Amino acid sequence: MRALRRFTVRASLPEPIAALGRLATNLRWAWHPPTQDLFATVDPAIWQDTGGDPIRLLAQVPVERLQKLATDESFLTRTRAIDDDLQRYLGQPRWYQRRQEEIEGAQGVGEQTLPASIAYFSMEFGVTEALPNYSGGLGVLAGDHLKAASDLGVPLIGVGLLYRSGYFRQSLSLDGWQVEHYPVLDPRGLPLEPLTEPSGAPILVHVAMPAGRVLRARIWKAQVGRVSLLLLDSDVEDNDDDLRGVTDRLYGGDQNHRIRQEILAGIGGVRAVRVYCELTGHPQPEVFHTNEGHAGFLGLERIRELVTTEALDFDQALSTVRAGTVFTTHTPVPAGIDRFPVDLVQHYFGAPGNESGGLLPGIPSERVLALGAEQNPGMFNMAHMGLRLGQRANGVSQLHGKVSREMFSGLWPGFDVSEVPIGSVTNGVHGPTWAATEISKLLGESEVDSGVGLRGFEPVTDAGLWELRSTLRTRLVEEIRRRVKVSWLQRGASALELGWTSSVFDPEVLTVGFARRVPTYKRLTLMLRDADRLRELLLHPERPVQLVVAGKSHPADDGGKALIQQIVRFADDAGVRHRIVFLPDYDMSMARYLYWGCDVWLNNPLRPLEACGTSGMKSALNGGLNLSIRDGWWDEFHDGSNGWAIPTADGVSDPNRRDDLEATALYELLGNQVAPLFYDRGEDGVPAQWMAMVRHTLASLGPNVQASRMVKEYVETYYAPAGRSAHAVRDNGFAGAKELTGYRHRMQAAWSRVKVLDTEFATNGSSATPVLGATVPVTARVELAGLEPAEVEVQAVVGRVDDADELRDVVTVPMRYDGDGRYFAEIELPYAGSAGYTVRVLPRHPLLASAAELGRVVLAG
Ligand SMILES: *Cc1c(COP(=O)(O)O)cnc(C)c1O
Repeated sequence: MRALRRFTVRASLPEPIAALGRLATNLRWAWHPPTQDLFATVDPAIWQDTGGDPIRLLAQVPVERLQKLATDESFLTRTRAIDDDLQRYLGQPRWYQRRQEEIEGAQGVGEQTLPASIAYFSMEFGVTEALPNYSGGLGVLAGDHLKAASDLGVPLIGVGLLYRSGYFRQSLSLDGWQVEHYPVLDPRGLPLEPLTEPSGAPILVHVAMPAGRVLRARIWKAQVGRVSLLLLDSDVEDNDDDLRGVTDRLYGGDQNHRIRQEILAGIGGVRAVRVYCELTGHPQPEVFHTNEGHAGFLGLERIRELVTTEALDFDQALSTVRAGTVFTTHTPVPAGIDRFPVDLVQHYFGAPGNESGGLLPGIPSERVLALGAEQNPGMFNMAHMGLRLGQRANGVSQLHGKVSREMFSGLWPGFDVSEVPIGSVTNGVHGPTWAATEISKLLGESEVDSGVGLRGFEPVTDAGLWELRSTLRTRLVEEIRRRVKVSWLQRGASALELGWTSSVFDPEVLTVGFARRVPTYKRLTLMLRDADRLRELLLHPERPVQLVVAGKSHPADDGGKALIQQIVRFADDAGVRHRIVFLPDYDMSMARYLYWGCDVWLNNPLRPLEACGTSGMKSALNGGLNLSIRDGWWDEFHDGSNGWAIPTADGVSDPNRRDDLEATALYELLGNQVAPLFYDRGEDGVPAQWMAMVRHTLASLGPNVQASRMVKEYVETYYAPAGRSAHAVRDNGFAGAKELTGYRHRMQAAWSRVKVLDTEFATNGSSATPVLGATVPVTARVELAGLEPAEVEVQAVVGRVDDADELRDVVTVPMRYDGDGRYFAEIELPYAGSAGYTVRVLPRHPLLASAAELGRVVLAG
C-alpha cells in the first residue's frame, strides 16, 4: 500500500533525558564527538543505520529503551555533562567578544567597533549530511563558515533556501551512466524548527510575483551552534502549484525557476531576517555578506526598505546599502557566472519606465536593470550586480583574487588591473568537522578548533603517527568495500557474483583519492590520458597505487556523465578493479572517509579555473599529502615539501597537448617520486621521509587551512570595515549617505569637464638619462570644473611601459595642491629600463573605500 502523504513523528522523550532533544536539534553535535558518542550509546545499531543522525535515531529507538535510559544514572550523568558543555559553548564569550573588548579598550571609547550582527546569504549550506541542503564545495564552505563563526562567537545569521529534495542522489546504471534520484525530505524529520507566531501559526514571508500573484514561504531555523540558519521553503498550501515548487530542487529547472529561487532567497531572505530579529531580539544585521552572486537581490530589498521607510531616494539608499555589503565571487570562469536574459528580469521587476512591478514598490526598474548590466545588452549579470551593490568584494584565494580583478576589470575602465577593488580571502575548512577524531584527540580539541598550531604532534613518534595513518587508511578500505558492493547491487548484480568486492583495495597500498564535482575544467579523466601507463602504476609489483574516484555530474551535463562513464568502464575491468574504484553518490558522509584515509589527494584542474578548492585542505588536516596542479589554494600554500605540484603547461594553447603534457607529469610524479617515497621503509616498517612530509603538512598547512583563520580574516578585513562604513552612512539620519550621494552627483555632473591641462616631468628638459631611485619633481595643472580641491585626488603615476605605451606595475604618488589648479609631487623612479609616467585625477571622499571604487578616473593627455 502506498502512503497518501508522508509525515514524521518526533519522539517524545521522558523528562530525565529531555536534554537529548536539545542536543539533537543543535547541530553542534555534528562537530562534537562526545555528543555523537552519547547518541551512539542510545542505540548503537540504529545510530549506525541512520548514518549518525540524532533526530532519526530518536524517532526510531523503541520507547522501552528510552525509558530504561531515563533511569540509567551513568547515562543521565553523561547527558547532563554534555548538555552543560553545550550551554557553556553557547553562552561563553569567545574570540569575537574578546576582540571587541580589545578594540574598545584600545580606543578608550565605548563605541561599537565590530558589527553587532552579520547576515550571510548563500544558495546552499552543507552543515551535515543529516541536513542535505548542498551540492558541493560552495555549500560545504558555507556550512564551514557558519560553524567557524559559531566557534569564534561571530554573531552571524545564515540565510538560504530549504530544498524539498536537496541535490540529487547519484547511482550508476550497469553500463556506468549516472542515474539521478531525488528523495523527498520532510522538514519535520530534519533538525529544523519553524518560525511561528505566538499562536503557533507558521510565519510566512510574502514576495510579489507578476500578475498580482504572491509567493509565500515558510521560514525554518536550523541551529548551528551559536548561529541560526534561516531556510525559506515555498512548499506551503496557500501557494499556487507552480510557486509551491520554487524550492523543490537545488540547481534543477530552467532559468525561470532559478530566478524565482534567487528572488526568494534574496528578497524573501531579507524579510525573513527582519522577522527573525524582531521575534528573538537578535540585533538587525549591520553587514550583509552575499556569498556568490545568486543571493544578490538582497541588496534591492534593502534599498526598497530604505526608500519606503526612511524616505531616502534611490541613490542615497544605494550608498547606504553598499556601505554594509560584502560580495564574494567564487568563479574564475566567465561561463560559470550567473546571468539571466534581461527580458526575464523585466518579467519580474517590470519594464523600464515602470516601478519595479509589484515586487519592489518604489524602485524604478531601469535602476534595477542598470545594476546587472554587462557588455551584452540582452543579459543581466548577477556578479556585476553583486559588485555594484557591495562596497567591498573578494575572491577566494590569492590567485583567484588576481583572476577576478582581470575578469571584472571592464567595470573599472582606466584603472590598472592591480587597482581593481577586489581582494581575496582564501577559503578554509572547519577543523573539528573534517579532522578524524583520532587526529583531534592527538592535537587536543582546542588546537583543531582554533588552529593556533599543531604542537600536539611533536611528542608523537613517527611510528605512532604512521600507525594512526594506517588505521585511517584501513577504515577507508572497509568503507570502499562496503560501498562498492552496494553500488554493484544497485547496478543489478546479484550478491553471489560479488565475492570479489570484499577484497578490493588493500590497507597496505598507497591510496590516492580524487573526488569532486565533474565540470570539464576539473578534468576527471586526465588520469586516463594514457590508460596503459595508469594500469602500470596500479599494478606495479613492488610499489602499487590504488585510486578511489568519486563525483557527481550536473544532471543536465551529459558531457560530464560521459566522463564518469569512462572512469567506471576502466574501473570495471577485472584486471584492475581491485586497485581502482568509482564510488557513486559523493557527499559529506563519504567525503570524510576519503579525507581521513587517503595518503595522497589528487587535484588536476585546468589552471587557473579552480577558484580555491577545499577538499585538499581537508585531506591535509588529516595528514594527507596533496598532489596537485598549482591552482587555487595550492598555488599559495605549496612550499616544496608539503606535497607535490604537478607542473602546468601554462601557455600551451592546444588543450589536447596541454592535457598530454600535464598527464605525463602526473604519471612521472606518481611513479618516480610519490610511490618510491611511500614504499621506502625503515627497519620498523615506517616510511621516514614520508612521515617527515606528513609532519610538515600538519604543521605548515594545519593552521592555515582552517575556516577559523578564514572567518577571522573576513571579520578583520571585511565585516569590521563594512560595519564602520555602514555606521558612517547611517548615523545622524543618514547624513553620511546623503552627503556621499550629493558628492557623487556633483562629481558626476562635473566629471566630463575635469581635465589635466598640462604636466611637467622635470627630466623632460634634461638630456641625461635618469637613474633608478632618482627623485624627479612632477607638476600638473588641473581643471577642477567647479569641484573643490579636497574633492579629488590628483596622482602622479610611474610604471614600466610596454610597446604600446601601456603602463604596468604602477606606483602612484599623491600630488600636493599648490593653489590655482596647480599640483606638485616628487617621485622616486622605481624601475630601470623603459618607464613612463602620467598624471590622473580620481574622486576623493572619506566614505569611499578606495579611490577606484566609483570606476572614475581622468588621465592626462
Ligand atoms: C569539500 C567538499 C567539496 C569541495 O571540494 P573541492 O576541492 O572544492 O572540489 C565538495 N563536496 C564535498 C562533499 C565536500 O566535502
